[in-house]
Amino acid sequence: MAENAYEIAQRQFEKAVRYVDLKADIAAYLRVPKRELIVNFPVEMDDDSVRVFTGYRVHHNTALGPTKGGIRYHPDVSLDEVRALAMWMTWKCAVVGLPYGGAKGGVICDPKALSVRELENLTRRYATEISVLMSPQGDIPAPDMGTGEREMAWIMDTYSMHRGYSVPAVVTGKPLAIGGSLGRSEATGRGVMITTLEALKRKNIAVEGVRVVVQGFGKVGAPAAYLIEERGAKIIAVSDAQGGVYNPQGLNARELLAYATTQGTVTGYTKAEPLSNADLLALECEVLMPCALENQITATNAPRVRAKIIAEGANGPLTPEADEILIDKGVFIIPDILCNAGGVTVSYFEWVQDLQSFFWGEDEINERLRQIMVRSFNQILRVSHEKKIDPRTAAQVLGIQRVAEAVRIRGIYP
Ligand code: NAD
Repeated sequence: MAENAYEIAQRQFEKAVRYVDLKADIAAYLRVPKRELIVNFPVEMDDDSVRVFTGYRVHHNTALGPTKGGIRYHPDVSLDEVRALAMWMTWKCAVVGLPYGGAKGGVICDPKALSVRELENLTRRYATEISVLMSPQGDIPAPDMGTGEREMAWIMDTYSMHRGYSVPAVVTGKPLAIGGSLGRSEATGRGVMITTLEALKRKNIAVEGVRVVVQGFGKVGAPAAYLIEERGAKIIAVSDAQGGVYNPQGLNARELLAYATTQGTVTGYTKAEPLSNADLLALECEVLMPCALENQITATNAPRVRAKIIAEGANGPLTPEADEILIDKGVFIIPDILCNAGGVTVSYFEWVQDLQSFFWGEDEINERLRQIMVRSFNQILRVSHEKKIDPRTAAQVLGIQRVAEAVRIRGIYP
């Protein structure tokens, strides 16, 4: 990774904390993670050899409740990246009003280079290693890049085997059959769609025919694309790690997803032209949705961005330098800690349903999600206008204020 995500998260914090009435010593406490676990563990591979993998689980803050955050499998995972993602989770949960602190986990690996059996061995062993921190009351993981329902099922099963009974509430993003929630698989993308519709309203742009460009076509990008397409928008370009496809007349997002699911990539889709990721980010469009990974838009390529709205489906896709350039250009940036909070919100619904063993209908879930996303969007814009700050800083201010208030009320132990 070109830029250190943790340094970026801390710079964002420094910028926002100036607008919060907060004692310096409490700010110093919120600026760093509460606890960090590093695990090196062996995994038996298909050829009978044993490989040692390194993983992390970081808890940033627990003032508002148990920690919540995804688990990432990617070759570039690092402790600093996990720290940054954990910190962003704290502000994200607070911004949308969930009773959680922030956490994140990750394993340095390339999941595409491992067999299913190797992935299962790795996941079960990693789950066992982090079980000293994980529990329905203490820390509840979820999917992130490179992990999904299957890995969450293995984690739930591993934890349950150790306990001797089923504990569905220990992890969210599970398959429906074992306590997952309706609406969870689309929730992050749905939140991206909902906040984008709100931003379009603020910009007085009708959604019909709006040109949308999506970088990253995974668990976030694909539902974000087909859900906003269903509202009348036109998806003109989509990319994944292998490259992009472009059709100015509009792609059919669901058809493209069916193609990508069988082929493993969007590239080669015949109803569109090939396009590089670099060119995709510079396309003229109303909405750009970076839904892949951090630091995709930097000081170098930000001047080429021609979108009017950027909806941050990914965590940390813009560097602070890119932020400045794009704000100066009048681009409306829906900050990650709001834009992609739909996932953790429906994860919260899943956890609540598991704890109560009482499950809700999909319409109820989607409507509750919509209310939370719209309310949080409006609260952030109010702070942004009142304090004359950009929406990202406003979102951070709101999150920091809520966590700081919890710390103040609870007091410092002992
Ligand atoms: P995923 O693994 O399902 O999909 C990631 C997508 O990005 C894939 O299509 C991959 O090919 C693509 N990609 C990877 N590198 C790329 C590159 N250099 N250029 C273009 N595309 C690239 O992961 P995901 O769960 O969709 O997560 C994507 C982002 O969203 C991450 O930043 C993650 O932290 C964030 N996020 C995910 C969730 C969730 O519920 N899954 C919730 C909140 C935030």
